[in-house]
Amino acid sequence: MTQFTLHTTALFDPQIKKVRKNISIEVDSSTGLIVQVFERDDGKRPFETVMKDGDIDLRGKYVLPGLVDSHTHVFLHSYDEAGALQQKRDESIVERVLRGANHCKLALMAGYTTYRDLGSEGMQEFDANMRDSIARGIIPGPRLFVATKVIASTGSFECRTENASGGHCLPASADAVDGPEACRQAVRRRIAAGADIIKFFADYRRRIMRSPPPSSTRISPAHEEMKMIVSEAALARCPVSAHCCTLEGALAAIDAGVDSIEHGYFATDEMFARMVDRNVIFVPTLAIAEKLHAKRFDQILRQVKRAHELGVRIACGGDTGTYPHGDNVRELELMIQAGIPVADVLEACTVGGWEACGRDLCGRRFGWFEQGLQADIVALEGDPEVSPEALRKVDFVMKDAQVWKRDGKFTQS
Ligand SMILES: [Zn+2]
Repeated sequence: MTQFTLHTTALFDPQIKKVRKNISIEVDSSTGLIVQVFERDDGKRPFETVMKDGDIDLRGKYVLPGLVDSHTHVFLHSYDEAGALQQKRDESIVERVLRGANHCKLALMAGYTTYRDLGSEGMQEFDANMRDSIARGIIPGPRLFVATKVIASTGSFECRTENASGGHCLPASADAVDGPEACRQAVRRRIAAGADIIKFFADYRRRIMRSPPPSSTRISPAHEEMKMIVSEAALARCPVSAHCCTLEGALAAIDAGVDSIEHGYFATDEMFARMVDRNVIFVPTLAIAEKLHAKRFDQILRQVKRAHELGVRIACGGDTGTYPHGDNVRELELMIQAGIPVADVLEACTVGGWEACGRDLCGRRFGWFEQGLQADIVALEGDPEVSPEALRKVDFVMKDAQVWKRDGKFTQS
């Protein structure tokens, strides 16, 4: 029997942003998909006659779709333990792969069934290999959609080599390219190397070995380069994500037609209006801003609230990895702190995540409950709308109709 049913009394339906009562979900472990979603009438038909052998009773728990973290780095561990450059310099490839495997299990146990992993941070295309290893059942983890190396201009998101006396001293994190044709090639190279999503840096600091820093501290790809990246990715049916820490970078990336803006810490109403206009997704990465932009953090929270008010499509992604995998819900907590209603935050972390992964371009449907969707189901011990701490009390995790956590414990070894 590959088909069985999960029975619930409180199911968060992100499509209506409300809890539905007495819903059951039949799933098929051979396909990993939801077979049907139906409402029970426990008054008419006693529950004992509905519950079959092999079914799962989640009554009394708060059930929601598996969560999607829309901005992660599976090979990074917390900057509180070691900075990114130290990790790239001092940790072996094997150590970083093994850490990545641990991170994936921690994420799954925290209720995260999908990761949109935006850059391998010096680990070449191993994120694509990690994705395939998880899909083949070698290690537990979320479903990964990966960017492999990010695309950036020469001299931007590259390791500084001024002291190296020739030769690079650190593994490259970026595919550094200049000019539209090189950008076209870089996109093709990324797709060939296994990327599900193209990520480029719309801006990054430059001239950092200079004091005092000159006024022009940022470097961006030229407009025609961004446009080429977007149009070439479209040919491969691949979504495009842009790292934007300046307003100028964000406006240029929006204009070039990207699907999502990451960070966007210097936003304006005008920028948000353009995002609404062009259906661009905003991934605010509050969890890393809390650490790196502590002085401006209140202002960043207000900007995210403003984006929500103006109707910008938001997806939840914390830049996870720069803070611990498994602590992913920090991003949700900060969005709630920003003043966004809990139901909207949960929707941004489910349906919003699927949209950030490229919607149907990603080849899977997940993030809500409907026949034919991936059977990704999480149960919490409490109701996060009553108390957000419930987000950290994950009792049950199913991914692709396979149970990974039950009664708060890892089920497979
Ligand atoms: Zn990132």
